[in-house]
Amino acid sequence: MRLAARANSVSGSKTSGTRNKAEALRAQGVEIVNFAAGELDFAPPGEMVRALHAAADADTHRYTDTAGLPALREALAERITQLSGVPYAAQEVVVTTGAKHGLHLAALALLDPGDQALVPNPGWGTFAAQIRIAGGEPVPVETSDTGFVPDVDRLEALRTPRTRLLVLNTPNNPTGSVCPPEQLARIAAWAVAHRIWIVFDECYGELVLPGAAHAHPAALVPEARDLTVGIGSFSKSFAVTGWRAGHVHGPRALIDTVKNLQSHTASNVTSVVQHALLPAARGELDGFPEQVRQVLARRHRLVGEALTTIDHIRPATTPQGAFYYFLDVRDVLGRKLGGEPVPDTDTLTGVLMEQARVALTPGTAFGAEGFVRLSYAIAEDRIVAGLASLREVMTGVE
Ligand code: PLP
Repeated sequence: MRLAARANSVSGSKTSGTRNKAEALRAQGVEIVNFAAGELDFAPPGEMVRALHAAADADTHRYTDTAGLPALREALAERITQLSGVPYAAQEVVVTTGAKHGLHLAALALLDPGDQALVPNPGWGTFAAQIRIAGGEPVPVETSDTGFVPDVDRLEALRTPRTRLLVLNTPNNPTGSVCPPEQLARIAAWAVAHRIWIVFDECYGELVLPGAAHAHPAALVPEARDLTVGIGSFSKSFAVTGWRAGHVHGPRALIDTVKNLQSHTASNVTSVVQHALLPAARGELDGFPEQVRQVLARRHRLVGEALTTIDHIRPATTPQGAFYYFLDVRDVLGRKLGGEPVPDTDTLTGVLMEQARVALTPGTAFGAEGFVRLSYAIAEDRIVAGLASLREVMTGVE
């Protein structure tokens, strides 16, 4: 069947692939510890669920304003202003179907065919896929030797007349790294100097561990405001991944374009969901992300300590945010595990699923052979059981 080149330029999300495989095994009665989850195991705040019921009972089932309910845009603008320290007005915010669609619309708004977009590597695979769909060319910026944060000299070496934007994702998926404010300021100043857009994905911005600081590029370099598209989400901070609720903020002209594109693609985010987001957007539920941060800090410690007792696997960095550990497994590659040859990371994650009954996401989903991502967004007893099993199986490396 002939399909458009644009469609053939991408394959399905690999992170979803791992999740599906783990769930398929579970459905067959095989007990799997799922370290591949890209979402919290928490129930969302009760107030949000009640607000969703109330919205469904009220007459809120029609199309809404394309950019979102005016009250929601207003509340989000205030929240973004308060969290970032950079003033944003309601007209500079669009509510989108998850951060994912917001990112997609931003790519469509900014990229012409042939434009280059710098993307972190390792990085979330969707960035490159969306850039390709928009006709652009993703250019990986290797960060594994620069603390999993883009280095300005490397950005400069990769810059060409076709460089149009840079994707920054902090806290980062898959590494959990947080871009230190001084480094973010250097990157923002570089982007301003060369008129390069910053697509700033801060979906995990509220999930930063104690000791690390999340900052907005325009709070550090005010001139960056005109060139920054901020991408936020309720998915991770309020445990509502399935609601598909995200938002985009940026300069008015860009936001109007994102709104136009949304009017022809999704129309608007599900009306009842938008109503149910209001209490969170108004900051009335901030105790929830605070509680999530405390739980994640405990799990982070638990995983970190357990990893020191497991052979052949080591953290590639100490994560400071999100809920991921990025693990260096290069020591196992080219050897055997429980008698099975392990030539590469994809094979390793398959073998570990069979032998240790744990699901880990291969680094190849993020452009990083030799690494795996471990999500600790699961209950502590599951973490303990999964890591004990991993420890045991890892003694079988020959
Ligand atoms: N950006 C990053 C870096 C992510 O890891 C994810 C989800 O895993 C998203 C965006 C998508 O978030 P949403 O559920 O709001 O679409």
